[in-house]
Amino acid sequence: MNYIDLLKECGEVAGLLWEKGWAERNGGNMVYNITEYADSKLRSLPSLAGPFKLDIELPNLANALLYCKGSGKRMRDLAKQPMENGSIIRIHEDGKSYSIVACKPIMPTSELSAHLRIHDYLLAQNSTCRATLHTHPTLLVALSHRDELLIGDTMTQLLWSMIPEARLFCQRGIGMIPYLEPGTAELADASLMQIANHDLLLWEKHGTLSIGDRMTDCFDLVDVMEKAAAILISSGKLPPSPVELQQEHTNTEQNTI
Ligand code: 13P
Ligand code: ZN
Repeated sequence: MNYIDLLKECGEVAGLLWEKGWAERNGGNMVYNITEYADSKLRSLPSLAGPFKLDIELPNLANALLYCKGSGKRMRDLAKQPMENGSIIRIHEDGKSYSIVACKPIMPTSELSAHLRIHDYLLAQNSTCRATLHTHPTLLVALSHRDELLIGDTMTQLLWSMIPEARLFCQRGIGMIPYLEPGTAELADASLMQIANHDLLLWEKHGTLSIGDRMTDCFDLVDVMEKAAAILISSGKLPPSPVELQQEHTNTEQNTI
């Protein structure tokens, strides 16, 4: 397998995200660590733009090559032309900065900090995961608006109880990240903290971040959990919110007067 195959895979996944309705406008982003699949030509490309300073030192990513969706680029466009809507970056030897090396000087996604922290961690753990995907799956995001589902493993337990695949393919459950401004170091740090114990992160009122060996695995994980969310919502088993309970209580009190 060559890195070109991985870029094609990014295109396929981007198309699926668009079809699913999880990638409005420039919503979502993907970063693929393609280092092991790079040929000698790609490895020796000069810098097109940079160096750009990273907000944190990432020593395990020294000399790594990563394909990144471009900031502001659309998944539906990336589906057709991955290299017109993303670029390949090389992390410098010191792990403190990066340069864009192919094919055009397209600035990487605004969520680069979160993706790169996780890729650095995955390498440190000798993980086989090489892909990270952030997307905006409608129903999981809708569930994240319910405060009581954000506590502990409530969301994981509820979704696991919907379909056997939810537990099978998301064995370490969902890490809940309280609302933090998109693209910030705070969101990246909070994500890194949770990824050690979870397969999928749910950023409150925003979207998911998944890890996988391949980009397709990242997509599958979100797909399975979004399906569980759909079943939860349509099964009537979604517990009433405290607000609904309060209203019910008030109505009952009024009826007895
Ligand atoms: P980018 O276009 O910078 O990747 O941002 C999209 C997004 O979903 C931010 O959270
Ligand atoms: Zn987003």
